[in-house]
Amino acid sequence: MANQNIPYKIYLSEDEMPQTWYNVRADMKNKPAPLLNPGTGAPMGFEDLRPVFCDELIRQELDDDTRDIPIPQEIRDFYKMYRPSPLVRAYCLEKKLQTPAKIYYKFEGNNTSGSHKLNSAIAQAYYAKQQGLKGVTTETGAGQWGTALSMACGYLGLDCKVYMVKVSYEQKPFRREVMRTYGASVTPSPSETTNVGRAILKEHPGTTGSLGCAISEAVEAATSTPGYRYVLGSVLNQVLLHQSVIGLETKTALDKYGVVPDIIIGCAGGGSNLGGLISPFMGEKLRGEKDYRIIAVEPASCPSFTRGRFAYDFCDTGHVCPLAKMYTLGSNFIPSPNHAGGLRYHGMSSILSQLYHDGYMEAVSVEQTKVFEAAEMFARVEGILPAPESSHAIRVAIDEAMKCKETGEEKTIVFGLTGTGYFDMVAYEKFHNGEMSDYIPTDAELESSFATLPQVPGQD
Ligand SMILES: *Cc1c(COP(=O)(O)O)cnc(C)c1O
Repeated sequence: MANQNIPYKIYLSEDEMPQTWYNVRADMKNKPAPLLNPGTGAPMGFEDLRPVFCDELIRQELDDDTRDIPIPQEIRDFYKMYRPSPLVRAYCLEKKLQTPAKIYYKFEGNNTSGSHKLNSAIAQAYYAKQQGLKGVTTETGAGQWGTALSMACGYLGLDCKVYMVKVSYEQKPFRREVMRTYGASVTPSPSETTNVGRAILKEHPGTTGSLGCAISEAVEAATSTPGYRYVLGSVLNQVLLHQSVIGLETKTALDKYGVVPDIIIGCAGGGSNLGGLISPFMGEKLRGEKDYRIIAVEPASCPSFTRGRFAYDFCDTGHVCPLAKMYTLGSNFIPSPNHAGGLRYHGMSSILSQLYHDGYMEAVSVEQTKVFEAAEMFARVEGILPAPESSHAIRVAIDEAMKCKETGEEKTIVFGLTGTGYFDMVAYEKFHNGEMSDYIPTDAELESSFATLPQVPGQD
């Protein structure tokens, strides 16, 4: 079909929604490295992980071989409330940029949580419920994951305990109230409710918390409360698996119109939206069927791919979680306090780390003032007020489209618009007032953080 017939929004019908998630690991020759026990250095098997995670989610986490995993009907039914999500042709942005490039974005912000995180939240809550558990615990930083999980738990009637990084708890009271509306209990982290929280508070009185620290508390709360397990909104293999629904829908929509992307772009915090968006395309690439340029975009203030080490590291500050092999800045790394754009996690999905290491994808880092410039331009022409995280992808999509303008190439660019930014207006305010600065960590700062990487036998 001719490209000029492409509508502004390509909607799929409910029947065109995928029946199965796609597990990209099945097509990877070099599988992502296994999680290791931080005490012994031995790979973590099913039994080792059972105190922390739900059984079915562990099976998904450890399954490197099953290519297509059925999406249970109840999850598909929930998806139908806000999916399939639209793939939008950014005609207005193209016009504004005067570029010959064709730009598409997959919009995941069309649900109350305002991001793609609901795709995995409902799956994780579903399996917890299936197992007969009472509830789940988790951490949240900016609040999108906590909100998504609260919605999923509210729907299924599961209890939900959220440890929210203290600075966000105080600065984002509206997020907190959304979570409570869906029935979650929200505790500022670090808190006095866990051993690890008390220890961190004793060592750093007055700390405003970090994601790594909230993870430690949530894990402790899960493992010390009968009938509870811990769930995580990014980084893990299972989360990328659930998020493959984004890429599968994108591919179906593009195929309908005979569109083949040249460049696929996504922002990368822990890697779940990017991993989900690219999975089916990466599968084709891994099987040698097609080639695409795939670009991960991260903040210059938290540059895991572009300046991190590919090594085993702790996933959390309290060092209670398994070790994961990933591009990491070190578990002590905390981005500068003036960084407002999200994507603050020190590590990166093991799957994406392996793919990046093997040369299947690229990564770039961008400064936050440039990200907010792109966000504002996008909002003014396309209407949607983007989340700061998503705007990292917008920035690089615009940059690539401007390169096409110089060369006259009509490339097709697809990027992930992961969410909306209504709860990020303090960051937008800083940008508008000219109070936003770009802090890029020095090599010396990164070196001191790398020095805390654990020694793992057989690793250099
Ligand atoms: C959480 C979040 C991200 C980053 O997380 P990934 O796991 O890297 O996808 C990006 N955009 C939005 C809107 C988010 O809420």
